[in-house]
Amino acid sequence: MRKCDRCSKEAKIFLAYGPHWLCKQHFLEFFEKRVRKTINKFKLVKPGEKIAVGVSGGKDSITCLHLLKSIFPKGTEIIGVSIDEGIKGYRDKALKVAKKHYKELGVDFTVVSVKKELGFSMSEIARKLAERKNEQETQSTCSYCGVFRRKLLNDFALREKCKKLATGHNLDDEVQTMLMNIMQNDFQKFSWLGPITGLKSKRFVPRVKPLYESPEKEIIAYTQFRGWRVYDGECCPFSWQAKRNAFRKAVDDIESKYPNAKFAALKFFQQLKPVLEKAESKKLNHCRNCGALTSSIECSACKQLKKLSS
Ligand code: SF4
Ligand code: ZN
Repeated sequence: MRKCDRCSKEAKIFLAYGPHWLCKQHFLEFFEKRVRKTINKFKLVKPGEKIAVGVSGGKDSITCLHLLKSIFPKGTEIIGVSIDEGIKGYRDKALKVAKKHYKELGVDFTVVSVKKELGFSMSEIARKLAERKNEQETQSTCSYCGVFRRKLLNDFALREKCKKLATGHNLDDEVQTMLMNIMQNDFQKFSWLGPITGLKSKRFVPRVKPLYESPEKEIIAYTQFRGWRVYDGECCPFSWQAKRNAFRKAVDDIESKYPNAKFAALKFFQQLKPVLEKAESKKLNHCRNCGALTSSIECSACKQLKKLSS
């Protein structure tokens, strides 16, 4: 039996980057301490602020919701927001799980429907894109979905006068996105990355990532040790289209050969961030249609909605 590094109990998890061997109790403490540290170090949430938490029903957002509730038990108003993309057999099931957790924690929540707000469900958009495949359409369903989801979350947080919008983005997501931005030469999106988005505008609610330094595998272990039900059923039927899959695989391959590579990438980015902030002084405008923050004349959501209506 391999013992926990911190007590005489049996180790239940091995973290190669430490390396750490930890029993269940010490892993839970280790995990939670790191989330608190992330929140404090990057000043993600200040006591008393009203926070909207985006909850999909998956392990990341459920963990984010529970931990924010336990770290800020009083004085900080936490409300939930779930986006319903209108993908049958997938999002409806995940939303059921999200609602269970909202109720258990006594969190007020709102479900925002993509179809109601924007006129198309993601299933309808996927169909449209498939029909246009032979035309010039090269974007995947996910690239529409991501833009619309971010827009609706921001609109909700603005409406509710929230100071921050918290999401369940984890260490793996962040490193994958860094690499994607580099390999797509998207300097601006790359420079916006980090645990808190620093865009300053009345039209933009800063997004914070309490799980920024939490590896995905550990979030899975954490929810299992806690015994929480999270949505881990079938993937979205369009997920095969996501470019991210290739980047996920590449990053995981590297990490398995060189443990700590993901944390190292994050630290590298942190050192680069002040330089990026200076360089990224490209002026942002407000979208001429909806007023959202954008680096061009129209925001991505408005451009994509136009394409769908044409
Ligand atoms: Fe949207 Fe793509 Fe995620 Fe499905 S896999 S929910 S289409 S971003
Ligand atoms: Zn717009």
